[in-house]
Amino acid sequence: MMRCFDSHAHYNDKKFDQLPGGAEALLTKLFSENVSGIVNVGTNPDTNRQVLSQAERYQQMFAAVGIHPEDCHYLGDDPQPYLEEIASLIETDRQGAQKIVAIGEIGLDYHYEWYGTIPMDKEKQKDFLRRQLELARRLRLPVIIHDREAHGDIWEIVRQYPEVKGVFHSFSGSRELAKDLVRIGWYVSFSGSVTFTNAEKVRLAAAAVPKDRLLIETDCPYLAPHPFRGQLNHSGLLSYTCETLAQVHGTTLREMAELTAENAKEFFALQGRI
Ligand SMILES: [Zn+2]
Repeated sequence: MMRCFDSHAHYNDKKFDQLPGGAEALLTKLFSENVSGIVNVGTNPDTNRQVLSQAERYQQMFAAVGIHPEDCHYLGDDPQPYLEEIASLIETDRQGAQKIVAIGEIGLDYHYEWYGTIPMDKEKQKDFLRRQLELARRLRLPVIIHDREAHGDIWEIVRQYPEVKGVFHSFSGSRELAKDLVRIGWYVSFSGSVTFTNAEKVRLAAAAVPKDRLLIETDCPYLAPHPFRGQLNHSGLLSYTCETLAQVHGTTLREMAELTAENAKEFFALQGRI
């Protein structure tokens, strides 16, 4: 049976509570059917702990921990205490279950001007991003990048960390940016948004990424692929995203599922674990 690897999901999200049996029943079903692995991604000190403890309950689930550019607005100005907390989570995990496979999601998000009464702060976002890239370099972990309307600034920053390997998740940039990322050894991950009717630009970018640098993801519970757009997303719908990428690259669905799962294993260093 064809099985997909979901390189980016948020199964700690409260939206899964609406399902009978919640996220737990869903995950048990998915792992017994068509999902070979999932990276569960945190965004702040609370969700980092949640995604990690959830990952510890499933052999095929792993975790990424980091401070999301939106979440940093609600935290203090000095990233140091949050970085120390992340580093200590990783150190403890390395002596135990070894579930943390990346720092993420981190990045820049220029979409909203306000977070409640807090103005969007580009410099604070950049500071958190740089400091987490430094942490990834020190701990030798790959990074998962969130980039929303900040393509140029992120590219300027990540290229200053040539020792760090990363992936742009739910890619929304140009064909040129995708090519630049591939050139510096990075990966590019596509979500359900590559299936949307009006997403021709995203499909053109996907076509520019060589097959050995492609990842697929849900970003669930958000970004359900066409024709489920707007509904609750989950890793069982990955085959729709995978099908679009297969068409873009002129391969079969099965081949695309296999190669993106192999790429995920390589990127997150999971050989022999799934
Ligand atoms: Zn996400």
